[in-house]
Amino acid sequence: MEVIVGIDLGTTNSAISLVRETSPEVFRNERGLATLPSVVGFGANGQLLVGESARNQALIAPERTVKSIKRKMGEEIKVSVAGKEYSPQEISAIILRTLRELAESALGHAVVKAVITVPAYFNENQREATRLAGELAGLNVVRIINEPTAAILVYEPHSERNERILVYDLGGGTFDVSIVQIERGVIEVLSSHGDTHLGGDDFDELLLNYVCDEFSEEHGIDLRKIPVAQSRLLQAVEEAKKRLSTEVVAEISEEFIAEKDGQPLHLRTEITRGEYEDLIAPLIERSIACIDAAMSDAKLLPTQLDRVILVGGSSRTPMVQNLLRNRLEKEPHLEIDPDLCVAMGAAVQGALIAGRNVGTLLVDITPHTLGIESLVKFSMARTELQTVPIIHRNSPLPASRSEMFRTATPGQAAVQIRILQGEYTEPERNESIGEFLLEGLDTDLDEESEVIVRFDLTLDGQLKVSAIDRTTGRENFITVNSAMARFRTAEGARASTALAEAFGDSAKDAPSSAGSAEPSEKAASAADSGLSSETTQLIAKARRLLPSASKEDEAEIRELIDVIQGCAAQGNQSGLDVASGKLIDLLFYVEDR
Ligand code: AMP
Repeated sequence: MEVIVGIDLGTTNSAISLVRETSPEVFRNERGLATLPSVVGFGANGQLLVGESARNQALIAPERTVKSIKRKMGEEIKVSVAGKEYSPQEISAIILRTLRELAESALGHAVVKAVITVPAYFNENQREATRLAGELAGLNVVRIINEPTAAILVYEPHSERNERILVYDLGGGTFDVSIVQIERGVIEVLSSHGDTHLGGDDFDELLLNYVCDEFSEEHGIDLRKIPVAQSRLLQAVEEAKKRLSTEVVAEISEEFIAEKDGQPLHLRTEITRGEYEDLIAPLIERSIACIDAAMSDAKLLPTQLDRVILVGGSSRTPMVQNLLRNRLEKEPHLEIDPDLCVAMGAAVQGALIAGRNVGTLLVDITPHTLGIESLVKFSMARTELQTVPIIHRNSPLPASRSEMFRTATPGQAAVQIRILQGEYTEPERNESIGEFLLEGLDTDLDEESEVIVRFDLTLDGQLKVSAIDRTTGRENFITVNSAMARFRTAEGARASTALAEAFGDSAKDAPSSAGSAEPSEKAASAADSGLSSETTQLIAKARRLLPSASKEDEAEIRELIDVIQGCAAQGNQSGLDVASGKLIDLLFYVEDR
């Protein structure tokens, strides 16, 4: 069986994946890590460093380290590393070769063919540079595909539905949003916007400044001026940032971070999710502005979107998800690991090219939102009992998440925690699945007490809900065994992504675009049977573009379709590849006019 790996060559992180059985698997290194930081460097003794080791020395030895080379792909420049000059393709090739070797050592044989992903906005030069980097790494790049297309493929390798999907991709260094259309199995990017300098690294920097300002105020020392301290802190704040995606408070603690008057100084501080969100809100708003631009380019309203898919590690940030929920009125999907989704999609594409059978990925998710009843203040005069979601539907299992609540009045002695399951804001419309009382709060307090409510939902469907009073540390909890049983019997808990869709946002059929199908399409589908779904998609797209092609192009498209079908019938794979390549180039040209 032909092996075609899928590679996500990212600005911050990269990953490699393969469909071995029927679903994509991501290769992990000896430490179990599935993503490789896209950083290349040379150590003090000249040894090549790729990935984490290079990233760790980036702040201490910037002259020997290269980060974010993807931003330079396609440019006629050289970057200087440890006194030597390299082209962006050469640096990318080092990352690609490391990934190839990772796959080869896991598989025990050579890996030659690959599908590599690029951002939808990459121009021809940038795509060509990526292909060249692959070749330099000893790979035959059988296809370059758009990252949002890859993300969709992993969710739905054989989509027959007509849909419009927004893919929100917030990684470490870049942000991309694409509006993608699936029509008769053909995936097409309608519009794409982004910000090449917006991502989790910026969040880290804001947190770093916050912590350093605090430290400087207390000790009069700016840790940003001490490279080793800054490097350590950067790792610590990134960890804290990740914790804040599930916890409401994160502690940052670094011993012996600096010295003053010969005495060691320690850094110990706490940041709440609320404080962190205040810091990053302007950056997230920038991503929302890009969404508006992409929607307007695609001439679509939020109501015309069928789905929102989250990609990139930073899309795990709760504030991002909440904003998307509110603005687009859709429950965003992030069942499939957003760090690995693009690489897995590239592997799906590779498998489709190889004519392999690709199954739908099974993911355990919670099909219902779980939350608690809480009094929500709209103004001094108006309060309302509402359901406050804690674990949103479509969350992959196991899921843990906490939220901070305040008591209704200062000096309140106890709070009743009522656990609700369902999608409605009005508590009475949801199902109440348990409740308990947290007593012993500090009644002498002048302000409302802060109570952290934490939900832990296991794969088996057991839900543990705990509540802790921040002032007194008093805690109580309840375990609801039936949380999943209720929907397991009702709908089945092991939901495929397709099934998850049914629970989630209604998947309406997008209006079919006029004149997009040839009358002969049904008849032609017989000749298409036996083709890989990748080729079928290509032919469907070609037929759809026939009306906009010139007479000569139309004749050439028809001829190439015939050649592809002929080669497929004869099992002539190389002929099929050549003709498919020609057809792709021609369609690109026809589409562009
Ligand atoms: P990517 O380039 O897609 O791998 O995304 C990497 C970025 O995602 C980095 O900035 C990470 O710090 C960030 N990231 C990873 N996990 C989380 C998380 N749980 N919450 C927030 N950001 C995260």
